[in-house]
This record gives sequence, C-alpha cells and structure tokens, in this order.
Amino acid sequence: MEDIPATPEPSFKQFNFHPLIAEGLDAIGFEKPTPIQAEIIPLILEGRDVIGCAQTGTGKTAAYLLPVLQRIMENPVEGINAIIIAPTRELALQIAQQLEGFSYFMDISSLPIYGGTDGIEWEQQKRALISGVDVVVATPGKLLSFLNMDIAPVANLQHLVLDEADRMLDMGFFDDIMRIISYLPEKRSTLLFSATMPPRIRELSKRILKNPGEVNIAISKPAEGILQMAYLVYDNQKILLLASLIKGRDLPSVLVFASTKLKVKSIARELKAKGFNVADIHSDLEQAEREKVLLQFRNRQIQILVATDVLSRGIDIENISLVINFDVPHDAEDYVHRSGRTARAEQTGIAITFINEEELYQFSRIEKLIEMEVRKQKPPAELGSAPDYNPRPFRSKPSRKPMRKGRR
Ligand code: ADP
Ligand code: MG
Repeated sequence: MEDIPATPEPSFKQFNFHPLIAEGLDAIGFEKPTPIQAEIIPLILEGRDVIGCAQTGTGKTAAYLLPVLQRIMENPVEGINAIIIAPTRELALQIAQQLEGFSYFMDISSLPIYGGTDGIEWEQQKRALISGVDVVVATPGKLLSFLNMDIAPVANLQHLVLDEADRMLDMGFFDDIMRIISYLPEKRSTLLFSATMPPRIRELSKRILKNPGEVNIAISKPAEGILQMAYLVYDNQKILLLASLIKGRDLPSVLVFASTKLKVKSIARELKAKGFNVADIHSDLEQAEREKVLLQFRNRQIQILVATDVLSRGIDIENISLVINFDVPHDAEDYVHRSGRTARAEQTGIAITFINEEELYQFSRIEKLIEMEVRKQKPPAELGSAPDYNPRPFRSKPSRKPMRKGRR
C-alpha cells in the first residue's frame, strides 16, 4: 500500500458509482469531483442528512444529484423516490435538465413542476405524477398545491433536497416548506444546500434535519478566478460607461444586473437605442418568454442580458465574459451571487460594479463581507468629471490579488 499518495487526488471512482452513472459523468464531461462533491457525496451515499454550504458555482447540484441517483438505483421504491425543491422556475428547470443529463442512460424518470404554466401543462403534470415518476423537481408553491390535492404518491419518499435554501427563505417560502414536509414520511434523508448560513437556515435545519453531516466549503466570497473592479460615477454617467465598456470589445456574453424591474427595462431600452444586441429578463415576463430569452443568451444569439436578481442565484450559464452591477446590491450577499455568474468552475471572469456617491457606504459593507478592497477607478475622461472618492470609515484587509480558482 506504500504507493498510495498521502492525499489522493479526488476522483469519481472513489464513490463506486453504478456504471450507468459513470457513463453519465463521462457524457457530461465531469472528470473529477469539486471539493463540495468530494466531501458530501460519501455522506449522502451513507444515507445521512446533510447541510452543504458553498458559494455559487461550486457544483452543489451534482453533489446531491449523483448520490441520490445512485441510491435510487440501489433501492428504488414505489411512487416518488426523491423531491428536489428550488426557489425559482428557472432553477427548477435547470436542475431538471442536469438530472436528465445524468440519468440519460438510466431507467429513472423525472418531472419538473413549477408555477406559471397553463392548464394543459397542469393536467399533464398531474397525470405524470399519478402514473409515477421517480424524481420531482419543483418550486415550493406548485408542489404544495399538488400535495394538497393528495395526488402525489409520496408515501415511500426517500430523499428530500432543498436547494438554495437561503434564497427560498428570502422569498418567504418557510411556511410552504414546512407544510410540504408535513406531507412527507418521517423516515427519509433530507439534504439542504445553501450559499450562505444565516441563523434562519440554522433554525430550519434544526427543525427538519436529523443529526446532519455538515460540509462548509468557503465563506461567502466570489470565486477566486473573478477579477473585481468598480467605477465611481454619477447616475447619469452609468449608461454611457456601460456602453463604453462593451462597445468594440470581444465580449460574447455580458450580464448586467440592476435592482429594480424599472431600471432593468430602461437600461435595456437605452442599450437597444444605441444599437446593442440586448434583452431584459425580470418577473414581468411570462415563463415561456423568460426561458426563450435565457436560451438565446446561452446560445449567444443575445450579447447582453439585463436582469433583476431573479437571475443572480444559481442560474448556470457558461462563459459569461463580464458581469456588470449597474447598481450596488442592497443585500451584500447578492453581490456575491451576482458576481458568481462569471468565472464558473475553473474559469476566470470580470465583475464590475458601478457606484454612485450614495452607494459608497453600501459598497464598503460588501467589501467587508468579501474581506477585500475592490479597486475603484474613475470613468474615462470623455464622460466628464466623476464623484470624488472619500475614504470610508471601514478599511478592509489589504487588497488581495485575484487568484485562479485552484482549491482542489
Ligand atoms: P452551484 O449549485 O454550487 O452554484 P452548479 O451545480 O450550478 O453550482 O455547478 C456550477 C458549474 O460547474 C456548472 O456549469 C456545472 O456543470 C459545473 N460542474 C459541476 N461539477 C463539476 C465537475 N465535477 N467537473 C466539472 N464541472 C463541474
Ligand atoms: Mg445551485
């Protein structure tokens, strides 16, 4: 046994997955587990309840999908085997798609259930539920309405996953979640994933998890591959600055965040007027429209997507070259989530925040959270004079150079 290195490289082989799962991994192109996957998969395979806390982009989805699939193959039950709950339709759909990918070679069926669909879809989902699916991916409200109607066969349920639990609580789903759980068998494993661990999540965990194994990968900081920058500007300079940053550069996918629907719409309108290839996404759009826009952005038919925070958590679009925070997010955690849209697994990206005078203080709170000072610059001279930078009361640790994301 001497030739085994002291800390072996993590490998998917160590989990002894079913060959069909290994095939799925191959097809999807995952070569080795990310840190959260390496730590949490063995716990889930043992049947433990778990809490997984890691920033966005660390691979939490596969961290639960793979072992849950493995356990279903080992021990399939009648009716629904696993329920995955996620805060938004976009996320539910995205999880369902990853699930489809992994289970492509398996005899495991899945069904996404989320709000905003029409009556026909409701009927279809209802029929699918009754006729039997193994895994349901759902938003809380819609799932609850099916459970209330008593048509979802959950008596033998083995696994409940709460993904983006912090977001679900932010969105006011606590009661829905508790009600959903009241329909589920006591004897099940419960897996809770979250990018942050505020006290309310601790509270929820205490109520619904039993002796959970806990894996914390990092405190809330943007992935290390992200180069973060900020511009100090007056509000009326922001749109011009945005245009000047994008114009003439080779940036196939730019994601712009703003805090309100109104702002999102007006930014998109102004960019369009300047001839940019841009779309906006926010809660006023119908489900189908949102999906269409996301797909076009993913396929690079749309260069610039302007979004509210609906999109900032969890949505996985690869190779976003630039994230712009058109304003400073009110919630410091949202900054981490927004910036996390760039530099997904193993890549580097740039996140730029526009700060006006009123937002300076809020930005200093963000710097405190991420424990680094973000470099601030003045806009190009042709945009006119910019606000002065007043040193803030808070000084973070000396700024750190962005590093490649290389924790594994
Ligand atoms: P999170 O839920 O933690 O935000 P995701 O599960 O959405 O992260 O994964 C982020 C990205 O990393 C996705 O594009 C996913 O396909 C990719 N990914 C996840 N696990 C691996 C892995 N083991 N190897 C390569 N890429 C991975
Ligand atoms: Mg996720």
